[in-house]
Amino acid sequence: MSKDQKRFFLTEAEIPTQWYNIQADMKNKPQPILHPKTKEELKAEDLFPMFSQECSRQELDQTNAWIDIPEPVRELYKNYRCTPLVRATGLEKALGTPAHIYFKNESVSPVGSHKLNSALAQAYYCQQEGITNITTETGAGQWGTAVSYAAKVFGLEAAVYQVKISYEQKPYRRSLMQMFGAQVIASPSMSTRAGKDILTKDPNNQGSLGTAISEAIELAESTPNCKYVLGSVMSHVTLHQTIIGLEAEKQMALAGEYPDIVVACFGGGSNFGGIAFPFMRHNILEGKQTRFIAAEPASCPKLTQGEFRYDFGDVAGHTPLLPMFSLGHDFMPANIHAGGLRYHGAGVIASQLLKDGLMEAVDIKQLESFQAGVLFAKAEGIVPAPESCHAIAATIREAQKCKETGEQKVILFNLSGHGLIDMTAYDNYLAGNLHD
Ligand SMILES: *Cc1c(COP(=O)(O)O)cnc(C)c1O
Repeated sequence: MSKDQKRFFLTEAEIPTQWYNIQADMKNKPQPILHPKTKEELKAEDLFPMFSQECSRQELDQTNAWIDIPEPVRELYKNYRCTPLVRATGLEKALGTPAHIYFKNESVSPVGSHKLNSALAQAYYCQQEGITNITTETGAGQWGTAVSYAAKVFGLEAAVYQVKISYEQKPYRRSLMQMFGAQVIASPSMSTRAGKDILTKDPNNQGSLGTAISEAIELAESTPNCKYVLGSVMSHVTLHQTIIGLEAEKQMALAGEYPDIVVACFGGGSNFGGIAFPFMRHNILEGKQTRFIAAEPASCPKLTQGEFRYDFGDVAGHTPLLPMFSLGHDFMPANIHAGGLRYHGAGVIASQLLKDGLMEAVDIKQLESFQAGVLFAKAEGIVPAPESCHAIAATIREAQKCKETGEQKVILFNLSGHGLIDMTAYDNYLAGNLHD
């Protein structure tokens, strides 16, 4: 390796062929997921009406550490993977830090974020099981875009409930979904019972991920041959995202380094788990001491302020009961620009890991996140998604600590997406119109 090498890649043959399921290696397994009505421990079959059978099985798998990535999904991954691992020398210089900062650039996926890694897998399993329609929710629009494209690739019809505030603030994401052939509905809508209930009480309701999930699940359960696909929170989604960390592990080896700190922003936890769990495996099995930091918005602080308890994943209470850190399933987050982080709960795996002290969480205010994003854009030439700005802000905090102590730590963060369709948010920031 050249001392000055900035970007690290794998050959197609080196791209991992399996995902990593950390549940198999956890000493304290996540507590069981419960049936919403009977409160009994859930079995995979109980999830079949909602999710594809394969994803339902993956959700509850606590024994197999390695799960084969289906060949057709691997072929599609090759359209954009491996994604680059980049040494952020520009950012290091701008900060004057002795830390070595690397980022894994998931923004290069065709739809601009890590979300496609799971959308392709979920659409594939649905198609294999004879499903014709899929439905989902989307906050900022990244997940909906990924689903719309994945549905098109596998010949499925997609209906996407987009949180109303994003539908209005981010018209280009709606256009993207429509371009891929999806039907896009602003949520809350009058097309479902859950939506109607909310609009009757509060006609100006701006929506939330929790509400959009209720609507999508209702549609899936009332439409034949239709399944629900979810972009975060559930363990099978995080499983699919581990391709990020598994690649990064090999790429860090090419760089001749191993991270002391791994950072990712945290909505429901899928890009965090995706980059962190393959490295955390070495903490659990070999006693490595890497720190893992989840960066959440201060306005939706489930990890730092939430309570660990059983809660629903959606407002209407259609999902199974999940043992997780939660702000309450009726929590209505403020309308911050990082729409993908506006979710009340954390995935059950990350919740257990946080409880057991295997990871940490920090909360980042909106202004600090945009300040970090603008600094990163100037230093590296990439406009980060408002969600990803939280990871950058947490990385900068750690890099500044290194500057004070003189420590040359190796920090790896996940750039979960680009912000080129979020320029309205940056406009507001640059005009001084954003508040904490
Ligand atoms: C959806 C999204 C997130 C948050 O979701 P996680 O499941 O927590 O990863 C973060 N960044 C981007 C770009 C997203 O689209």
